[in-house]
Amino acid sequence: MILDSILDGVGGTPIVRLSRLFRDSPCEVMAKMELCNPGGSVKDRPARYIVERGLADGSIPCDAHVVESSSGNLAIALAMVCRLRGLRFTAVVDPKISPTNLRIIRCYGGNIEQVTEKDRQGGYLETRIECVKQMLRERPGTVWINQYANERNWQSHYHGEGEEILRDLDRPVDYLVLGVSTSGTLHGIARRLREAWPQLKVVAVNAAGSVLFGAPPYPRELPGIGASRVPELLRRDEIGDVIHVNDYESALACRELVKHEGIFAGGSSGSVIAAIQRLCARLPHSARILTILPDRGERYLDTVYNDEWLSRMRDRHLEHNPETSLNSTIGQAA
Ligand code: PMP
Repeated sequence: MILDSILDGVGGTPIVRLSRLFRDSPCEVMAKMELCNPGGSVKDRPARYIVERGLADGSIPCDAHVVESSSGNLAIALAMVCRLRGLRFTAVVDPKISPTNLRIIRCYGGNIEQVTEKDRQGGYLETRIECVKQMLRERPGTVWINQYANERNWQSHYHGEGEEILRDLDRPVDYLVLGVSTSGTLHGIARRLREAWPQLKVVAVNAAGSVLFGAPPYPRELPGIGASRVPELLRRDEIGDVIHVNDYESALACRELVKHEGIFAGGSSGSVIAAIQRLCARLPHSARILTILPDRGERYLDTVYNDEWLSRMRDRHLEHNPETSLNSTIGQAA
């Protein structure tokens, strides 16, 4: 296979049956490997789709300066896409950004605008958005991607993973279990699959401590899923159950994934695996379950795959769940 550019390598990801990890379960669990995308994550899809559609319809001029508030996978993906499309890109980040991500964005040629002041909630979200708005006012030619409200975010997953799953699977799945932040991935895939499989049940996986589904905020460390505000794109009525998973449970499941399946994945992959383990345990019958694994493990070497960090998260977990017996409910660290 010869591609014209690395962007043509976005998508076309394989689906893997997790038959080793779920050996003792009556459920069949399959995972689409979004971590195989060239920029390292599922966010390559919206980055490419939004920029290319924007260039095609003129909403992103060919000499635009693209800006987005993101310190994670979307910023990396946009830096890659903008590099190839000859656009300037600036990621608006805050001091919580991981040093690794900062360096990756810079390697792709992206600029960094780092805010330092906290907002009224004690976080940085509002300050970051204010910084973006100031850039839009003061620097002509600046275009904001705005992933939380951009309809092309979910559409990229509808035409992307949604279409590919229907092509690759010969029969319906019962459950789609996906992590949520902007909700673009979940809504895009679910909307496409439901057209073919109307009985599909959609389960959202949220980070414990995230406010997406109305729970009160509390500290969480893993990036990827969860949010400190409710995205404009989120439609609660299109989602069935919501399962909350904390940082410790996510990290344990990541370690099980690499131990049993040889898949070295990021924090939110552990979150969906932990959620599926919980779902399978309470189902009265076998089921066919599909998820996606959004990014690779390298960006999490200092968290998920670091024993000191894990032990801090374990203490926090026990503090919030004093009744939990670690051995009986969530297994032991690998
Ligand atoms: N997992 C990871 C690792 C991510 O970076 C993201 C996007 N922040 C998600 C899951 C959730 O995707 P979405 O924003 O489409 O809900």
